[in-house]
Amino acid sequence: MLEPVEKIFEKKYLTKEDIINLLNTSGKERLSLFQKAKDVKSSILGKKVYFRGLIEYSNYCKKNCYYCGIRAGNSRYSRYRMTDDEVLEAVKYAYINEYASIVIQSGEQTNKAFISKIESLLRRIHQRTGGNIHVTLSLGEQTEETYLRWFDAGAHRYLLRIEVSNPGLYLKLHPNNQLHGYNRRLDALASLRKTGYQVGTGVMIGLPFQTVSDLADDLIFFRQLDIDMAGMGPYIEHVDTPLYKYRDELLPLKNRFELSLKMVAILRIMMQNINIAATTAMQTIDPQGREKALMVGANVIMPNLTPVKYRQDYLLYENKPCLDEEAEECKSCLEARIHMAGDEIGYGEWGDSKHYSNRTL
Ligand code: SAH
Ligand code: SF4
Repeated sequence: MLEPVEKIFEKKYLTKEDIINLLNTSGKERLSLFQKAKDVKSSILGKKVYFRGLIEYSNYCKKNCYYCGIRAGNSRYSRYRMTDDEVLEAVKYAYINEYASIVIQSGEQTNKAFISKIESLLRRIHQRTGGNIHVTLSLGEQTEETYLRWFDAGAHRYLLRIEVSNPGLYLKLHPNNQLHGYNRRLDALASLRKTGYQVGTGVMIGLPFQTVSDLADDLIFFRQLDIDMAGMGPYIEHVDTPLYKYRDELLPLKNRFELSLKMVAILRIMMQNINIAATTAMQTIDPQGREKALMVGANVIMPNLTPVKYRQDYLLYENKPCLDEEAEECKSCLEARIHMAGDEIGYGEWGDSKHYSNRTL
């Protein structure tokens, strides 16, 4: 450590070197980093944690990302699409339980039927809940026209992870073709911003070939893009994917988790008023992973509302938690955990990104 962490915290603008130093902290300095992030969160955002009910709408996907269990090339899972009734039932659960927000996530599909189906579901959700449920979409890369259609139908937030901001590394993690091109993803993020969405992005942490310098660049990328929301989590290998062959070269899970916590903490210090999710992948490694993320700066949590019968088929990575838990059980265990982390749940509140509200004033 060239500079004591306290000196770094006094800076308005962290440099790449500062970020690398923070990612490498240990002992007392590591604890100071976590404390600083916690202080920033409570002074800027208070103690509120917002729920987003997660609906894993479908595992059909046209892509073949090398890390993901539901990639098109994996024939082990049976493919499903939730019915309208199942989606509306999950929305009703969110509504009754005052979640105020849901996320609809899916493998990437761009056919006309899919686009229209999402549009009509959005309109029905809006109608049924009197506009009281805010919808975040996480449906991959689409055309600007599609993003606009869905925006007009009632979706106002969108999550599209850049996965890794280093184009060379991106190429190693995806097939080398147009469909999986890095620039396509950048263009999609730009379209989302232009359309008016609250834009969220994120990365996986602990991927093969990824360095601490890459992770520092990822955080700088978020700042440059001026994002409203972030979702980051550890990379977890999946046996049916091409990247599985590198499993012996990966950081131990414990270290991937630790780096993820530091990424959350540093991002909270760098971008104080954005929403940051405590992701499920963190819980996969450590049963208290999401609570730990809340304690170092995260303020959003995504309880799973997907019907249990589909969960075994939406395994982006292995050992996903809560596979056999109905929403109700998930909810009560979450409540207790959040209180343990010293936070309160913002029931009935949309919990929009303050960053977004400020930039659109
Ligand atoms: N198809 C959409 C949404 C579903 S995938 C999309 O790609 O945006 C949602 C996220 O799951 C991805 O952005 C990726 O970051 C994450 N993911 C996929 N495989 C993973 C793995 N093996 N470990 C950790 N996260 C993974
Ligand atoms: Fe499909 Fe998303 Fe998985 Fe890539 S990460 S294979 S786009 S579901």
